[in-house]
Amino acid sequence: MLTIKDYVLPKTLEEAYSILNLNKNNAILGGCAFLRLGSKQIETAIDLSDLALKYINEKDNQIEIGAMTTLREIETSPVLQKNFSGILPESVKNIGGVQLRNIVTVGGTVYSRYGFSDLNTALLSLDTDVVLHRKGRISLEEFLEKGAQKDILEKIIIRKTKCQASFKMMRNSAADYAILNVAVSKNDNDWKIAVGARPQRAKIAKEAGKYLAGSKKTNEEIEEAAVIATKELAFGSNTRGSKAYRESICKVLVKRAIMEVI
Ligand SMILES: Cc1cc2nc3c(=O)[nH]c(=O)nc-3n(C[C@H](O)[C@H](O)[C@H](O)COP(=O)(O)OP(=O)(O)OC[C@H]3O[C@@H](n4cnc5c(N)ncnc54)[C@H](O)[C@@H]3O)c2cc1C
Repeated sequence: MLTIKDYVLPKTLEEAYSILNLNKNNAILGGCAFLRLGSKQIETAIDLSDLALKYINEKDNQIEIGAMTTLREIETSPVLQKNFSGILPESVKNIGGVQLRNIVTVGGTVYSRYGFSDLNTALLSLDTDVVLHRKGRISLEEFLEKGAQKDILEKIIIRKTKCQASFKMMRNSAADYAILNVAVSKNDNDWKIAVGARPQRAKIAKEAGKYLAGSKKTNEEIEEAAVIATKELAFGSNTRGSKAYRESICKVLVKRAIMEVI
């Protein structure tokens, strides 16, 4: 059972950050949906609700999404439906039910770097940066690889492009975790193929992207790109699926996503 000894509602990010680092058992609260499933003993719980971090702002060159934005707000955002072929709303629509998506936050999702995350895979296929209070702005790709020490995710920034994109996933049932998820984007002739829930966290299949960019995109070449993506990434087994099963569906989902983009 989750226990919380003290609760604070800071007025600035700096205040939240300094409280976070006062004690190793202090923790940030996002929507608290994942936290409450565990047995963490939090000394001081830091609620970011007063910091105006709930927004989806469209600017000329980028879209900024605040850490306290919920996945339901991503799902229903007209801005995100019209940009990036709508893959961000598409990627979250099967996460639990509406009640869960009304609670869970972008900050909790991205900062935690869950392997199974659908949103992180879709974001990785776009040109996404994360803004951390202490560490500053870094690419999502680097953040997913390295993480951060006791920091606060303030927002994510997605560069606006005219890219075509597609998100695909395989689930045993509607609200279950994905067995595999794939997002593909094409900006001019720059292809990004991201695969998550392997079950490790999302990663870009760089060789496959390069191969596709240099190909004529015939059926055989698309299939070859999907094979390259499957070979260059590592897959594993868990209760939802075996390594071999994931490798098989990776080829299919990557191929379908590329064809949809084309
Ligand atoms: C029942 C259930 C089913 C789910 N199914 C899926 C699924 O199928 N696919 C999927 O992609 N996801 C799924 N999720 C995960 C969900 O989408 C969220 O990613 C998850 O709940 C974390 O978001 P949260 O707001 O609840 O974070 P919390 O539980 O509040 O926090 C999670 C962690 O992140 C830290 N944190 C929170 N916000 C910040 C911040 N701004 N800066 C730094 N650290 C922060 C917290 O301290 C904590 O360690 C599921 C979650 C639940 C509870």
